[in-house]
Amino acid sequence: MYKYYPIYRLTIMLDYILKCSKCGSTFNFSIERKLCSKCEQGLWLEVKTLSLDKHEGEQGIWKYGGVLPNVKREFRISLGEGDSPLQNSLRIREEIGVRELWIKDETIEPTGSYLDRCSALFVSVVLSMGYEKILTYSTGNLGASIAAYSSRAGIKTHVQVRPTIDLGKLYQMIIYGAEVKVVEAFREKKIKNTAVAVEYDPLINEAKKTIMLETFFQLNRRLPDYIILPMGEGGLVYATYRMLKDISRSSTSCKTRIIGVQSEDCKPIVNSFEKGLDFIEPESESRGRIFDVSVSNPKFGVAALRAIRETKGTAVSVGEKEVFEALSLLAEKEGILAEPAGSLPIAGLIKLVKEGIIERDSTVICVVTGSGLKDPKVMKEIAHRKSSLGALIEELSGGFRLSPTKTAILRLLSEKNMYGYQIWKGLREKYGICVKIPTVYQHLNELIGKGYVKKGESKTVMGRRREYYSLTERGEALV
Ligand SMILES: [Zn+2]
Repeated sequence: MYKYYPIYRLTIMLDYILKCSKCGSTFNFSIERKLCSKCEQGLWLEVKTLSLDKHEGEQGIWKYGGVLPNVKREFRISLGEGDSPLQNSLRIREEIGVRELWIKDETIEPTGSYLDRCSALFVSVVLSMGYEKILTYSTGNLGASIAAYSSRAGIKTHVQVRPTIDLGKLYQMIIYGAEVKVVEAFREKKIKNTAVAVEYDPLINEAKKTIMLETFFQLNRRLPDYIILPMGEGGLVYATYRMLKDISRSSTSCKTRIIGVQSEDCKPIVNSFEKGLDFIEPESESRGRIFDVSVSNPKFGVAALRAIRETKGTAVSVGEKEVFEALSLLAEKEGILAEPAGSLPIAGLIKLVKEGIIERDSTVICVVTGSGLKDPKVMKEIAHRKSSLGALIEELSGGFRLSPTKTAILRLLSEKNMYGYQIWKGLREKYGICVKIPTVYQHLNELIGKGYVKKGESKTVMGRRREYYSLTERGEALV
């Protein structure tokens, strides 16, 4: 493949240096190098910030080309990522009681995740270097995003996923044309002409800086008192910190504190912060359901820890219940449907305001990193809890399929309570369904088993016992 490309394509990125986010060791840029060979921590790309200007004529993240590695225009891939709204919260702000709350809504990105900014940069560089394929190991969002951007670039994608992946993200990858393989554990391997994309990749992290820069412009070049971010690998916290430092050089003062939020199920960075450690104690494999941020040994853990401490911020963990409540609140009060990982900052904010750690006269930004539509399991669970339509949701989501006969029985019972013979007759006369009487009873028993129908009163008429059937609440909701 390389022989078809002029040499300059291979050398575009070679001017860059990779620097360890923990020990400071430096390495020449190589797309294959993901971690520091001395301490196994994440690397960052030493990109000289040329300008903090926004170039309106460019598409997507390329508007912020001044803070990104230089990629020739003909290789720049974009699906219009970035430029996400910074919503001025009125209702959650009032409920929580802080002076100013801004929600950076990344749910609107092309594949529904802030990682689209990262895929745009990664795929463009990979294209400029002449690679034919991308292999990615993904808990979900990154795989879906890389798949979309690769399609745009005409590059093939292979995604390795775990069996626990969110269904919506799996659908996305497949439909974008990625070849998906389910594996129990990720095993990195080198394949010819194939670039590997992982969430802690230096290029992928680099593009995360654009969220902070964009927010700075949206706030009319103001910086908030707090920026609250979810933490998995810790890369978003670290990239935000680096951007803040660059901005502060040109801004009068930076008093922005970074707050990182993890889920109770997997919180190695929060643990180290609370214990005052300057290293990360890896956790055993997380069983948490917020997969995208359940990272037991974060590659930017130490870097995130330092960023939080240096900005006098804090690290906090929240339980699943708090996350789901924050998710509901975002949807009900602000019209933003976030995924659980994207709801962590709001959950963290609520906790820290209650504890008095965030002062009420603060200006706060919460970054909502991804869309809830990607996670049908969680959406279903929350909708189930919040409404009386549980049975309908079960039915529509394929939990229990009703045959035409059962549907007809439920409709008959929605008119009035009936006994077996009446139902048999109704089926025949109203719906043209001719079945034997024992079959009617079999259907009724199955409907009772599913909780849609119950037995009611029984009467004896002319020496024969009649048992009446009626709909349960679930059955009524279904009809
Ligand atoms: Zn190192």
